[in-house]
Amino acid sequence: MPIAPEYLHLVHPDTRFDALIYGRASRDPKKKGRSVGDQIDSGRDLCDTHNWPIAEVFDQDVDRSASRHARKARKDFEALLEAIAAGKGRIVVAWEASRYYRDIEAYIRLRNACMENSVLLCYNGQVFDLSKREDRKATAQDAIAAEDEAEGIRDRVLRTTRAQAKKGAPHGRILWGYARHYDPDTGDLIEQYAHPERGPVVESIFERIAAGDTEYAVLKDLRAKGERLPGIEWEYYHLSGMLRNPGYIGRRIHQGKDVGPATWPPLVKKRKTWDAVQRIIGDPARARSVDTAVKHLQSGIATCGECADDPPLRVLKNRGDLSYQCDARYDTVIRRKLLDAYVEEAVIKWLGSKAAVAAFQSTAQEKRAEEARERQRGYESQLEEARERASTFKDGRPLLSVASLASMEARLEPLIEAAKAAAEESSAPALVRRIVGRPDVESIWNDGLSIEQRRTVLRAVVNVRLYKARVSGVRSIEPGRIKMTFVGEPGFVRAGRRGSGPALPAAEGS
Ligand SMILES: [Zn+2]
Repeated sequence: MPIAPEYLHLVHPDTRFDALIYGRASRDPKKKGRSVGDQIDSGRDLCDTHNWPIAEVFDQDVDRSASRHARKARKDFEALLEAIAAGKGRIVVAWEASRYYRDIEAYIRLRNACMENSVLLCYNGQVFDLSKREDRKATAQDAIAAEDEAEGIRDRVLRTTRAQAKKGAPHGRILWGYARHYDPDTGDLIEQYAHPERGPVVESIFERIAAGDTEYAVLKDLRAKGERLPGIEWEYYHLSGMLRNPGYIGRRIHQGKDVGPATWPPLVKKRKTWDAVQRIIGDPARARSVDTAVKHLQSGIATCGECADDPPLRVLKNRGDLSYQCDARYDTVIRRKLLDAYVEEAVIKWLGSKAAVAAFQSTAQEKRAEEARERQRGYESQLEEARERASTFKDGRPLLSVASLASMEARLEPLIEAAKAAAEESSAPALVRRIVGRPDVESIWNDGLSIEQRRTVLRAVVNVRLYKARVSGVRSIEPGRIKMTFVGEPGFVRAGRRGSGPALPAAEGS
């Protein structure tokens, strides 16, 4: 049977009870439980009253939970176990059972440590001697009750998360660029708002990427301006995560799904900017080149001129040299360096030319792209509204029947796809628009672009076709061996319109 602390000296006469005091914050966001400070004070009072010298105080567990769902190790629970094993105390003092353990495993570890080192355990105004069978039983029951309580808290936290998500309210880690107001009395979140300095930084990051700046350049500037958070440098993944997070246009995402408008204001205020960034970072040309380990400038882009169906060239090893070869009939082959140097020189020259400026200055083209995007958004919002109505019930019936929704989906989905394709068709990559006509095209090309970016430019501006050499083994390039057709010239075919790609209806007369 546990005994009251005041009788401890009777049961264990002439024993010095060095005490280990343990205080732990409960994971109660409203701080209704006793604070760690209060717990420690109560423990000190208890020790003073009964003449137990305080050996050590463990009170740093403020942000960590002892529940088995907690992600971080509880350092001070571990430190407590170590102190017990090191013989630093003869009694552990805490406020209540749940302060020691939130799961049975933690209880067992504490119990074993106490048993092995003949340390007593004091909580809820009782002292337990774990070498005794009935005390082990009583503490085990308390541990089970404490675990149950912790599960209850976890369920409540999950329910709150779901409810918050439904309301569009923020939950969990704060997005960089925002700040939060809490009620000082209840600890309730009042609002999430744009951080006065960081908010505008986020907006300018999106605007720069939308305007064609590279993530690399943006990252360099961010680093030059300072750290993301004290002690944390800006890393590439911070930026790439930010650019993909719909929270910045004020959408609430819960478990990967968009659950509607958020209660916080968007930092990216223009839908147009957000859409442009998503197009740029979602460019399949980028995604493809990321997962190929060996990257070549023109593999899969330049084609064989001898074969009627325009098969792409692929890289192969030819007598120790890398070469491009027709992927379908192997009828054309050229050393990789030779073709790359020839094409790069011509492309750099063309990008700085008036013809290039003319090809990309077409505002009509941009206007068409914007109109197509507008159409796409219109269809999308119609569909969203229909889905909303189909899931809203009045007098037990949905406002829109499932059959009507299905027919609307069947009608709108192809329209959305077509509008999307038309927008992609008409818009020039922002990257290309940024380089065209610049006097320093050559140094941008050589020093400022990654191989993926060069490939993106090639796709957008030129068709390269390779023909057979008249004499085999020729090391230089004969006239007519390589034919280049630039955008705006007759016969230019847009990437994605040839080979196995689906043929799209022409949105313009080129
Ligand atoms: Zn061929």
